[in-house]
Parts: sequence; C-alpha cells; structure tokens
Amino acid sequence: MEKKYFQPEIETMPVEEIKKLQEEKLLKQVKYVYENNKYYKKLMDEKGVKPEDIKCLADLSKLPFLTKNDLREAYPYGLLSRPLSDCVRIHSTSGTTGKRVVAFYTQNDIDIWEECCARAIVAAGGSENDVCQVAYGYGLFTGGAGLHGGSHKVGCLTLPMSSGNTERQVQFMQDLDATILCCTPSYAAYIGEKIEEMGIKPEDLKLKAGIFGAEPWTEEMRRSIEKSLGIKAYDIYGLTEISGPGVSFECEAQSGMHINEDHFIAEIIDPETGEVLPEGQEGELVFSSIDKEAFPLLRYRTRDLCVLTREKCSCGRTHVKMCKPKGRSDDMLIIRGVNVFPSQIETVLLKKGYTPNYQIIVDRIGNEDTFDINVELSEENYKKIHAADNEEASERDLVNAMKTMLGIRPKIHLLAPKSIVRSEGKAVRTIDKRKLHD
Ligand code: ADP
Ligand code: ZN
Repeated sequence: MEKKYFQPEIETMPVEEIKKLQEEKLLKQVKYVYENNKYYKKLMDEKGVKPEDIKCLADLSKLPFLTKNDLREAYPYGLLSRPLSDCVRIHSTSGTTGKRVVAFYTQNDIDIWEECCARAIVAAGGSENDVCQVAYGYGLFTGGAGLHGGSHKVGCLTLPMSSGNTERQVQFMQDLDATILCCTPSYAAYIGEKIEEMGIKPEDLKLKAGIFGAEPWTEEMRRSIEKSLGIKAYDIYGLTEISGPGVSFECEAQSGMHINEDHFIAEIIDPETGEVLPEGQEGELVFSSIDKEAFPLLRYRTRDLCVLTREKCSCGRTHVKMCKPKGRSDDMLIIRGVNVFPSQIETVLLKKGYTPNYQIIVDRIGNEDTFDINVELSEENYKKIHAADNEEASERDLVNAMKTMLGIRPKIHLLAPKSIVRSEGKAVRTIDKRKLHD
C-alpha cells in the first residue's frame, strides 16, 4: 500500500529541523507580507517593526496580532497579498460568531491545503483502497472542499455527498461500501441515530473510520459515535482564515492533533495580556501561515482555547500536538459570574447516559441570570422514566451532577425523544437571550 501522504521526511522530522524550516519560511513570509499587504504593513509600522527585525523564530512575538475584527475591517480585499488574477478560489467562514469573512487561495495554496487533509485521511488509516464519504457541507464552507480534495489526493473513491438528506447518506454508505466518513461530529451522531432507526446495525456497514471536526466535541461524544457507527473516530481541526480543515489532525494515538508545522506556526498566548505562554499551559491558540500566497495571516488570534504539547507520540510524528480545543473564548458563557463551557455540559450528559441532544438557554430576569438546559431523552430512557414515574428524581440527579461540574445549578427539562432539531453541520448548542436585552 502506497502511503504517499504519510510524509515521514516532514512529519517525523527532528524538532530542531522543523524549527529551522519554520524559521526560514517565516523570515521570507514576513518580508513578502510587508511588501504585498498594505493592511499588515500598517500594523507593523504602527508597532515599529520592520521585516529586518525578524531574524529568528523567537522574534515572531515582536509581530502584531491579527484578529477577526481586522478581517472584518479589511473585508473583502484588504488582506489579500496577491493580485486577484493569481487567485483561483474563495471560501468563507461559517459566520458562527458574527459577520462572515472571506479567504482567498492560489492554486498552490489549494494544493498545500488538500495535502494537509490528505495527511489527515492517511493518519486515519485511509488509502487508495478506501471509499471516502464526504458529508461536510460543500460550498463556501471549507469542510466539504477540504476533505474532498484530500480524498482525491490520497486516491480514495470519493463520495461527494455534502451534508443533509440523511437517509440517502445511509443508503449510499451501505450500497457503495463507504469505509471512511467525514462530517461534523454532531452530524455523525445524527447519522448514527438514523442508522439505528432504519434497522441497520453498525456491523452491517463497511465503515471503519470517521474524520470529524469543525466544532468542539468531547471524549464522551467520541465514544458514543464510535459505538453507534462501529468505527474509530478521529478529530480534525482547522479554520477558514488559515486555510480550512487539516491545520491539525489526529493520528491513531487519538491523544491530540498534530499541527502541520511545515506550513503553520502555532503559539499559545494569554488572551488578556497577549504574552506568549510556555508549552503545556492553556491559552489562546495563535497561527501564522508561513507559506500561503494569497491570504497569508501572521499571528492570527483564533480565540480557541487550547494546550500544546511536544510529548513523544507513539505514531512517530514529531509535529507539535494541540489538545481538543475546549471551545472558543466566545463560546464560554458567564452565568451568575461563573464560566461555563457547553463541552462541560456535554460531558455530564453523556456520562450519565443521556443523548448528546441538548440545548442551553440563558436569560436574565431582573438582575438574575436564568440557566436552563433542555435534554432530550432516548426512547429507552423516556419509557423507563415514565414507567417508574421518576422524572423529578432524574432531573434532580442531573441538576446535582451539573452543580458538581459547573459550580452552579441549572434548571433541567427532560424532553421527549426527537424534540430537539438535529444538526447537519455545526450544532447550535446555546441560546443566550441576554444579548437581546443589551
Ligand atoms: P466560523 O469561525 O465562522 O465557525 P470556520 O468554519 O472557519 O468558521 O470555523 C473554524 C472554527 O471552528 C475554529 O476556530 C474552531 O473554533 C472550530 N473548530 C474547527 N475544528 C474544530 C475541532 N476539531 N474541535 C473544536 N473546534 C473546532
Ligand atoms: Zn501521533
């Protein structure tokens, strides 16, 4: 089996060599960006930094940050570093946290991006013998295009399904013997449910692996999807601004995602002070793309909270690993003064045997925050709870478990099966009505 996109000469390179390669690329890239990108030149000038001041990797911290606000301000062409005639594609963010931003690609940028996705597919056990079902949305969203391109590069037989039409997804998966499924984890959970509903058992399918990302998901969610689809589930991370999915990906160790360090430099900073934090500390993830042509961002603040580690990985890859991002700093809810992440709620629910279908509703009445969680019951749980008439006791038990995890008490509402809308892309877990009062 040819594993063209396991690239040991790069992926298992000694760390010192990776850093040297990054340094060479960074120095060139800073000069290129300064000369070709008026917006970033202005930021550098304002900070009093010239390309000549960046002499080694450690000098990276002298450069100014870029934020999503900069991208919105520079929309659409302000951060472009190549003439439009050199560009071949545009993608756009999902707009999860506000106005969408657009990113541009030259053919070379596309090739590198697809190569990153190809590495992710190979790391999940993919080869030219696989049938890869791409059920991320196609279109402006980078999920579909990225994994589609990666699948082609690996030589898999590609099923370009896009998201939605779930029964047809399952039908094709079965009829065409799909072996790898690529989609968001919330959609994978939904497909798992659909399979059961259609009376199909995981062992009736040929699926062996799933490559799931584009939104936060917990270890508990991973186990639940692995069980319902009978696969090994791999995480993949990325963002449109930096290229798309495949900025980092999981290997068979399933203990963090290797960042493609030959293309991206990752830093962790203190989100308050902007100071670079030492390895192993949690903070905001910042990326510099060191060989992109059309839309090269330096020190882009992702708002994703994360930890980096260089611990030796059993797969042999030496590229730094990032943990599952806990969520974006802007996913974090502050309820009655306490920080709450949706991922903490997901962990409690799945540990207690509930479904991953939930919704968090926060509001303010007078000066007091209200905090409600709608939790959908599985058919089985629903019958059990109603037969024993212990809905109240179950709710109380869940409130106590949430209190232990979060430090505050939500109101729990146990809902009938199938009452929460399923996600075909990124799930909407939170409705914060307080924003309406501001
Ligand atoms: P938007 O920012 O509008 O959602 P993107 O589609 O580019 O646009 O999404 C990128 C973001 O998605 C990342 O910054 C991160 O917050 C989230 N994300 C992507 N992959 C993962 C993952 N594997 N785990 C957690 N979050 C992820
Ligand atoms: Zn590894």
